[in-house]
Amino acid sequence: MTRVLVVEDEPALGRALAITLRAKRYDVDVAHTGAAALDAAATRRPDVVVLDLGLPDLDGLDVLRALRGWSAVPVVVLSARHDSSEKVEALDAGADDYVTKPFAVDELLARLRAAVRRGEAAGPVPDPVVQTARFTVDLPRRRVLLRPPHQDDGEVDAEPGGEQVRLTPTEWQLLAELARSVGRVVGRRELLVALRGPHLGSEAAETHYLRVYVAQLRRKLEADPSAPRHLITEPGVGYRLVP
Ligand code: CA
Repeated sequence: MTRVLVVEDEPALGRALAITLRAKRYDVDVAHTGAAALDAAATRRPDVVVLDLGLPDLDGLDVLRALRGWSAVPVVVLSARHDSSEKVEALDAGADDYVTKPFAVDELLARLRAAVRRGEAAGPVPDPVVQTARFTVDLPRRRVLLRPPHQDDGEVDAEPGGEQVRLTPTEWQLLAELARSVGRVVGRRELLVALRGPHLGSEAAETHYLRVYVAQLRRKLEADPSAPRHLITEPGVGYRLVP
């Protein structure tokens, strides 16, 4: 069953959408605020999101940007505003499609089906909470927790807990990039573009920059920073986060 998260603060519209979608055999969750939407996206792992841009607590675009920090789930945006700049902004922020209110239900359903198909073609959604034997990277909540000693038993599916590690924004960004590709090598250039944008300096300077931040992360996260077990250098290529 395809799971849809409907983010809509108008109770009547949220209810109507839920009834319509359930009749079409979707499994539906409804969130009325941006905060609830981010929480539901992390815990319920929907296959597709319908996101109203006008929410009481957060701007829908900020919800979308936060979601895109860790999830590639297809998002169809709903907006009451008709200007095309908002549409462009939503698409730039990572929306897959856009429907203007008031909309015909058939149109929304068609766009939803298309978004789900594209999501399926893109493959399974990776887990947004990455656990290693020593620490947990919680991408939705933007935090890293050191596993408490009693959990350090190879049990990787236990409820994440432990002491929160304070990271600088750059350290977090670097760790998040590696966590999104956990187990795989991430190339130096890819990491640098994610951290610094496409206009990079000399290769020597950039390589040094990465090395400095990886060393800082190792000091904070590895039991023995000089013999890392999780933040691994792939010589001449890049880095890999090993669970
Ligand atoms: Ca609204």
